[in-house]
Amino acid sequence: MLHSEFMDMQFYIMFYPIVFFYGICIGSFLNVVIYRLPRNESLIKRSSHCTTCGAKIRVIDIIPILSWLMLRGKCRSCGEKISPRYPVVEALNGIIYVVTFTVLDFDLRSLLYCFCFSILICIGFIDWDTMEMDPVMIGMIAALGIPLCVISALPAETQASLPEFVQLEGDSLLSHLIGLFCVSVPFFLIGEITGLIARKIYKKDLRRGIELGDTLLMAAAGLLLGWKAVLASAFFGILIAAGWGLIGKLISGESKFAFGPALSIGLFFGALWGEPLLNWYIGILTYNPYA
Ligand SMILES: [Zn+2]
Repeated sequence: MLHSEFMDMQFYIMFYPIVFFYGICIGSFLNVVIYRLPRNESLIKRSSHCTTCGAKIRVIDIIPILSWLMLRGKCRSCGEKISPRYPVVEALNGIIYVVTFTVLDFDLRSLLYCFCFSILICIGFIDWDTMEMDPVMIGMIAALGIPLCVISALPAETQASLPEFVQLEGDSLLSHLIGLFCVSVPFFLIGEITGLIARKIYKKDLRRGIELGDTLLMAAAGLLLGWKAVLASAFFGILIAAGWGLIGKLISGESKFAFGPALSIGLFFGALWGEPLLNWYIGILTYNPYA
């Protein structure tokens, strides 16, 4: 849709602030989801309120990032501290949108990825807080994958007749279908086996190594991203989780932690850089200097 001749300096100056602004506004809504969903509160019914004194938050105080800075992180009516997590989530979502459109260009795929990353922010923070994953959110990620599956299944000529915005270059339905299973099946087996060992040795129904939520998340993300990106995502996610677990063990002696945030971060990097990285790696493995 956006040809290179439009991709000049003026375009960037216009485009990125708008993208960032949309990103932080949606980030503001993500804060509502992260706070209210685990508490079974309605996402739309009640207007934003202070979580300490319950005072309704005025319009001037709901501007993403800026309001928190102007209030110096304190509630206007009761003076109680407002978690810095709120502006962090807003800024994070804005930055993620800008990075996504920079790395992938502006098309249907990158738009769907942005929605996916926003859902992953919610999944990551909620899992961090509660050790639970919401199946509806995982389902939403899978639903984002369906348009890409449909378009990539079209014959090349049909796809070429579509607007450039929705075309998917070098994508195939098979890649999405393999993506659905290539990480989720091994995750499921590891979860089952570690669960079985835990029950056999400790005679208790302990938490499994990999929870069912993690497995379903990787299945849904695999359908959206395709097999190469989801495989790289799992690799990044496990690396992050291992580093995280090690630091946690060293600092607090606690090795139990939520896998969801690590997987969410892994999926972000995997979605944007996983496929070129895997292609490069396959290139090294199959390089023949005598050919
Ligand atoms: Zn208050």
